[in-house]
Amino acid sequence: MAIDLIALSDNEIASLVAELGFPAYRAKQLRQWIAKGTPIEQMSNLPKALRDALRERGCSLPIPHLVQKFVSQVDGTVKYLFSLADGQLIESVVMRYEHGLTICVSCQAGCRMGCRFCASTLRGWERNLKATEILGQILAAQNDLGERISNIVMMGIGEPLDNYEEVIRFLHLVNAEDGLNIGYRHISLSTCGLVDGIRRLAKEGLPITLSISLHNIDTEERKALMPITNKWSVEELLAACRDYFTETGRRISFEYTLIAGENDSPDKAIRLANGLKKHLGKMPIHVNLIPLNPVSERQYRKSGADAVSRFQARLVSCGINATVRRKLGPDINASCGQLRYNGALDTSGTS
Ligand code: SAH
Repeated sequence: MAIDLIALSDNEIASLVAELGFPAYRAKQLRQWIAKGTPIEQMSNLPKALRDALRERGCSLPIPHLVQKFVSQVDGTVKYLFSLADGQLIESVVMRYEHGLTICVSCQAGCRMGCRFCASTLRGWERNLKATEILGQILAAQNDLGERISNIVMMGIGEPLDNYEEVIRFLHLVNAEDGLNIGYRHISLSTCGLVDGIRRLAKEGLPITLSISLHNIDTEERKALMPITNKWSVEELLAACRDYFTETGRRISFEYTLIAGENDSPDKAIRLANGLKKHLGKMPIHVNLIPLNPVSERQYRKSGADAVSRFQARLVSCGINATVRRKLGPDINASCGQLRYNGALDTSGTS
């Protein structure tokens, strides 16, 4: 049976090395290589016999292969295009904040949610990523940068709650003390609103931060932007959010992408504020406003700076805590899905 070395705990690595007939100190060396994401053949201080035995035993370390890398000259944001073992392309972005490096990881190749303004969904869904392929993005980026990544946002390509089991496995792996040991409070998961997944997640007992991509508070209008609303209305979504907060004590943040003439009028800000307050009860509310990053295949335009600040001011005057997300990596097109989409069409390697 094939063994993903990245998924093994300290104890499992020790048993594997013992089973292959090598002394215990080799387990420690092996663990250090795995934590760095080094391929078996490059684990230079392990005897060749052990490297061969690992391969014969079916072990592999499936770190995504770096296809393209872009570094923003403006703020140091790094965007990666990786290919997986079967050639699927995915993206990850590393952002530099005062408190350390944050990585935005992908959890699916493509996406089937069909949000009208999003590039990740343009060519549909190809497949789910395995937990180790999500983890591998962090190892590959850390290897490349030579720096520790301390925060994770699941806001890359794909819908985390549509790949539920592997995403939960990933969260356990990345949090493991003998793995990358990244605390749950340093992890955010963003969803377009799969109500069954939100309700299931509430029971996992993981103190991660949940973000909801709301973008419109009116069920009918949201249907036109986000087809998932045909399955669950905004009211059902917000009821699940309220219950999530009651059950977990963890507050939820709301993402709201501002699209010119679609959802950015002051009147919509008032309806948003009132709707959130009405449905969320005592939950402290935070809205993160994201100016649209236009996708050329779609007709949507970005809201102007004036409309953004008017929308924010209106929310604040209604008692809603609202911030505008700073655009990182403006010179490298750092938003999700666009690179994979273009890269998938043109794999010549030019940027
Ligand atoms: N599927 C998850 C996570 C991926 S997208 C989700 O829907 O939340 C991460 C965030 O970027 C979401 O809030 C998404 O709605 C937003 N987004 C997608 N395309 C965008 C674009 N072109 N401009 C601005 N925000 C976008």
